[in-house]
Amino acid sequence: MKWLPKFLIVFLLVPLSISITGCQRTENPLGRKTTHVFSPSYLHKQADAAYADEKKKNPQSANVVQQALVQRVGQRLIAIAKRDYPQHCQGFNWEVNLFEKPKIVNAYCMPGGKIAFYTGILPICRNEAGVAAVMGHEICHALLRHGSERVTRSMVVNALVIGAAIGLGSSKMQENNRKAVMAAIGLGSQVGLILPFSRNHESEADRMGLELMAKAGYEPAEAPEIWVRMSKQSGGQAPPEFLSTHPSNQSRIAELISLQPGAQAHYKVAPNKYGKGEDMRF
Ligand SMILES: [Zn+2]
Repeated sequence: MKWLPKFLIVFLLVPLSISITGCQRTENPLGRKTTHVFSPSYLHKQADAAYADEKKKNPQSANVVQQALVQRVGQRLIAIAKRDYPQHCQGFNWEVNLFEKPKIVNAYCMPGGKIAFYTGILPICRNEAGVAAVMGHEICHALLRHGSERVTRSMVVNALVIGAAIGLGSSKMQENNRKAVMAAIGLGSQVGLILPFSRNHESEADRMGLELMAKAGYEPAEAPEIWVRMSKQSGGQAPPEFLSTHPSNQSRIAELISLQPGAQAHYKVAPNKYGKGEDMRF
């Protein structure tokens, strides 16, 4: 029982020190109160460095038509994010890249607005509206600061767990915290630690992402179709990477369908309408 006092000290000190050292409490764009250990600028810096690495490691897609399609969807969504959520994208340094990774079904937007699409997700997107649905969802994770919330939660958990495990020392804790930061900015699988977004985060990103794509002029009815195609692709097999961190199920599809009336209202008044846009050509 020698460890118990140490555990109690950590248990009490972690929340205390976080509250003293400027833990931020803010409201996200959907009105939910959230807590953050790190400032946006700190996480943006980490994310930008990780993204620069991604660009060095991964070749760009050589398909100029697909590149142009992904870029223009990105620019249209970013324009709406800047227009409607100026405070929440403060300090963002937006960038969109389509990487040649045909076997990887994945896409992400890091804190600070660095967006990556892998070519492996394009068949599931199928058309511009499909790209807008996936990208809108990912952008909204960043606007909602879900990664930042995730790292806050895992750092507190790490501190408690490590504090309880005597003899591991601070270097181990730092290593775990570093992994948590990497995971939060979207590189979890590469550092051997996956922290899935919670169901609530997914639901928030679905709701806000649907609105974002509709405001940008893309047919919101395409959003639930993505998840139908995604489920079909995974079949009875192990889910693709994108799915493993994005639990997909019938209730998610049903929710996206139930949100259609609100999304259609935004689509109706969108200044430009592109419908489903161009089909993806392979
Ligand atoms: Zn998600």
